Amino acid sequence: MIQNLKRINLIIKLRKLGVTNHKVLSILEKIPRENFIDKELSYKAYLNNALPIDCNQTISQPAVVAKMTELLEPKKSINVLEIGTGSGYQTAILSKLFKRIYSIERHKTLLEKAKKILNHLKIHNTVFYHGDGIKGWPANFLFERIIITAVAKSLPSKIIKQMSNGGILVLPLIHDNEQYITKIIKKNNKIYFKKYWKVRFVPLTSGIN
Ligand code: SAH
Repeated sequence: MIQNLKRINLIIKLRKLGVTNHKVLSILEKIPRENFIDKELSYKAYLNNALPIDCNQTISQPAVVAKMTELLEPKKSINVLEIGTGSGYQTAILSKLFKRIYSIERHKTLLEKAKKILNHLKIHNTVFYHGDGIKGWPANFLFERIIITAVAKSLPSKIIKQMSNGGILVLPLIHDNEQYITKIIKKNNKIYFKKYWKVRFVPLTSGIN
C-alpha cells in the first residue's frame, strides 16, 4: 500500500519535471522498480534517484528513464537496440512500448540477473547479448530506435551505422564537459542533435566482463 502511494507520488513528480507522454508514465507506474534492486534498498525504489546495482553500476533515475523513453517516440511496431542492460529496468519499460528489444550488456553477471527478473515479470519480447555494445548488434541489422544508457565521449560509429534512415538514437553525450541526454536523428546520412537534461551516467566501456 505504502509502495503504491510512493509510486503515484513518483509519477506526479515525473509530470512536474516535464515528462508528458501518458503511455510512458503509465508503464513506469506499473513496472515494479523494487524487483530490479537489492531488497535492502526497496524503500528507495520510488525515489527519483539512481541506485547501486552489482558490478559497480547503477540503475538509472526514473525521471531519466522516462525522459529517454519519451524521446525515443515509442511505437508498438518498432524494434529497439539497447546498449547497457544493467538491471534490466529500462529494458522492461521499453518492452511494453515497442515490439522487440535487443539488449547488450558487457557484464555477464548483470545480464543473467536482468534476464531472470524479466522472465519473472513474464516479459518475453527481449533478446539479450553479452558483448561490447560499442561494436553494435552482432548481425547486420538496422534499427529505427537505439538507446545507450552509458555515457560516450563521442558517437560510436558502428552504432550510427546501425541506425536506419529516419532513425532515432537517445544517449547521454558530453558537451562542454557536461553530460546531457541527447537525441540524434539520422536523415539522408546527416546527423541532427538536440540536447536535453543534464545527467550523470556511468561510462560506456569497451570489452566484456
Ligand atoms: N539502463 C540501465 C542502466 C545501467 S548503467 C538500468 O536501468 O539499470 C549502464 C550499463 O551499461 C552498465 O550495466 C554497464 O555495464 C553497461 N555498459 C557500459 N559499457 C558498455 C558496453 N560497451 N557494452 C554494453 N554495455 C555496456
